[in-house]
Amino acid sequence: MRLDGKAALITGGNSGIGLATARVFVEQGAKVAITGRDQATLDEAVASLGPNALAFRADIMDAAANEAAIRAAGEAFGHLDIVVANAGIAGGTPVGGTSAEQFGRILTTNVTGVFLTVQAAAPYLRQGASVVLIGSVHAVLGMPGYAAYAASKGAVSSLGRVLASELATAGVRVNVVVPGATRTPIWSRFGRGPNALAEMEPAMVRAVPSGRISEVAEIANTILFLASDDATNITAAEIVVDGGLTGAPSGAPIYRG
Ligand code: NDP
Repeated sequence: MRLDGKAALITGGNSGIGLATARVFVEQGAKVAITGRDQATLDEAVASLGPNALAFRADIMDAAANEAAIRAAGEAFGHLDIVVANAGIAGGTPVGGTSAEQFGRILTTNVTGVFLTVQAAAPYLRQGASVVLIGSVHAVLGMPGYAAYAASKGAVSSLGRVLASELATAGVRVNVVVPGATRTPIWSRFGRGPNALAEMEPAMVRAVPSGRISEVAEIANTILFLASDDATNITAAEIVVDGGLTGAPSGAPIYRG
C-alpha cells in the first residue's frame, strides 16, 4: 500500500474532493484526520471511512478553532506525514455587486485559511512529509464575475512556491494540484440550486479537449501521487487536472469542424 503507516490531515474532508481523497488515503493504509464545518457530514464520513479516520469540526474562518483542530489531529497521531489543505469555497463576486464581506470571505477561507492550516500543521510535519494545496484553473481563466475566487486560487499557487522553499529546510515537500471543473457538491452551494452542474455541464465541456469534466477520483489519485513516496523529489510543482482546458484549448470540441 502506498501510504502504509502514514498520518494525514485533510481540511474539508467531509465532501467532494477532500472526502474522495480521504477514501483513497485510507484504502492505501493511511490514518486520516478530516476537518469541516458540518457535523452531520463529518460523522457520516468517519462512519464510511472506518476505524482509521477521525473528524475534528472547525470553521476555517475561525483561526483559533482551525488551529485547535489541526493541533488535535497532530496530537492524536503524534505527527503528520501528509497535509491536504483542500477546504475552499467558490462564489461569484461581480464588479458592481460585491460587498467587502463577500470578497473577504472567499479570500479568508481560500488563502488565509490555507496558510494558517499549513502553519498550524508545521510543528507536526516530519522529514519527508508532503503538503498538497488545491488551486484552480480559475487562476488563469479570467472568467467574468469570479474576481475573488480567481485571485484566491492564484494566491494558492503563489503560496505553494513560498511554502515549498520555506519548508524545504525541514525536508517537507509542498505542491499544488490544479483541478478544472470536477463533479462535487461545490456547484450546488451558494444558492445555485441542485441542478446547477447538470445545467452548465453541456456548454462547459465544449471548451475541454477531453470533452468532459473530472470525477473526484481523478483529483484524489493525483493528490495521492504527490502525497506518496512516488513523488519524493517533487516540490514546488503544480499538476493541472483539467482535461487540457488551460494547456491545449485549441483541441476543444468547440474548435472542431
Ligand atoms: P465541496 O463544496 O464539495 O467541499 C468543500 C469542502 O470545504 C467541504 O468539506 C467544506 O466543509 C469545506 N469548507 C468550506 N468552507 C469551510 C470553512 N469555512 N471551514 C471549514 N471547512 C470548510 O467542494 P470541492 O470538493 O469541489 O472543493 C474542494 C477544493 O477544490 C476547494 O478548494 C475548491 O476551490 C477546489 N476546486 C474545486 C473544483 C470543482 O470543480 N469542484 C475545481 C477547482 C478547484 P463543510 O461541508 O463542512 O462546509
